Amino acid sequence: VSAIHRAAIFAVGSELLTPSRVDTNSLFITEQLNLLGIDVVLKLVVGDDRDELARAFRLARERVSLVVFSGGLGPTDDDVTREVVAGVLGRPLAEDEGITAALRARFLARGFPPPMPENNRRQAMVPAGARVITNANGSAPGLWIDDAANVTVLLPGPPRELKPMLTALVSGPLKERFAGAALVRRVLRIAGRIESQTDEALEPLYRGWEKSTPPVSATILAALGQIELDLSVRTESRAEADRMLAAASSEVEAVLGEDVFTTRGETLEQVVGELLVARGLRIALAESCTGGLVTSRLTDVPGSSRYLVESVVTYSNESKTANLGVDPALIATYGAVSDQVARAMAAGVRQRARVEVGVGVTGIAGPDGGSAEKPVGTVVVAVDMPHEVHSRTFRFIGERQQVKFQASQSALDMLRRMLRRGT
Ligand code: AMP
Ligand code: MG
Repeated sequence: VSAIHRAAIFAVGSELLTPSRVDTNSLFITEQLNLLGIDVVLKLVVGDDRDELARAFRLARERVSLVVFSGGLGPTDDDVTREVVAGVLGRPLAEDEGITAALRARFLARGFPPPMPENNRRQAMVPAGARVITNANGSAPGLWIDDAANVTVLLPGPPRELKPMLTALVSGPLKERFAGAALVRRVLRIAGRIESQTDEALEPLYRGWEKSTPPVSATILAALGQIELDLSVRTESRAEADRMLAAASSEVEAVLGEDVFTTRGETLEQVVGELLVARGLRIALAESCTGGLVTSRLTDVPGSSRYLVESVVTYSNESKTANLGVDPALIATYGAVSDQVARAMAAGVRQRARVEVGVGVTGIAGPDGGSAEKPVGTVVVAVDMPHEVHSRTFRFIGERQQVKFQASQSALDMLRRMLRRGT
């Protein structure tokens, strides 16, 4: 196996240090670098700050052979990446007339009246010896600088500009410069179990994987309503990696059974959608406490119109009666959050939409409205199918949003299990 290359990623932009924005580019960059067997060992989020950026870049250069920057290549004074990198590397900046001409053409093509503002020409400044990377979706070109010890890549921040540029680098210059063993990953997701118990059950598998050649690494992560198991292997051939990961996934399925809802990184809503398509069934939902979240997640999947027919958010008791035909006596006797009402909602929406599968969700998201018998976090889910009606009461903990999400997760998981069993 060839030498493992180490990379650092810099996400540049002061907006990425506020509470409202997050750096997502580095995830895509990591995925792409891993394809070439390059490990990301360091990620930094830095504001539009010359000193901080220069200092961090100097440090990173001593630790890695590749540094990828995203952001800070814009035309304004607070876009500092190009200048800082040129400064640290001691490569003077000079205007590239070809880029300036392309910028002017782009400016006119977009219908702006000439002349183009002078500060746009900052984007045409290129450090000595750098290679220019074309940007098909924006004005700022990328840059590639190869020293003997390091490669530095500068890419614009907007994801739709960065992604195709990086993809082109990965199949071209980056591949030539850093060819090595590929790092291949697979994401397994598990519902209906807790992390510690899952980890314990998988312990014997981990030990076997560690000893295999090459070893399979595993990382377990608990998220709300699901557990994620990331498997990865570094091999010369992609086929060999795929074979090893497929074998490891089967071992996990043998231990955890149908609690594993995907071995291919799918979401729960994707899996439910595939099952509905496979079985040729259509679905309708009646949601109360989830406010349409289950439906929203189902519609996140492209092509969901093939099976999702209708959804009704019936928040009040009156609406449950008016829109779903829930008998007011049921609500008066058992309460709006009860098996009886959830089942009536599922049956009601199924009949209303004339479909094969009806789902009802009713619960108490909090923080108010709980009682001793039905505390905040109590959620009842019912699924009504041709040969089977099922309802279940859950007790979730957490804030309102978390209760809503867990309720949607449990509703989707209940559906998945019933659809799998094929009644
Ligand atoms: P810039 O190249 O610095 O002008 O970035 C422009 C825009 O790209 C920002 O306003 C963000 O919307 C987006 N952006 C920049 N950096 C990132 C990042 N690391 N992850 C996701 N989006 C980003
Ligand atoms: Mg910026």
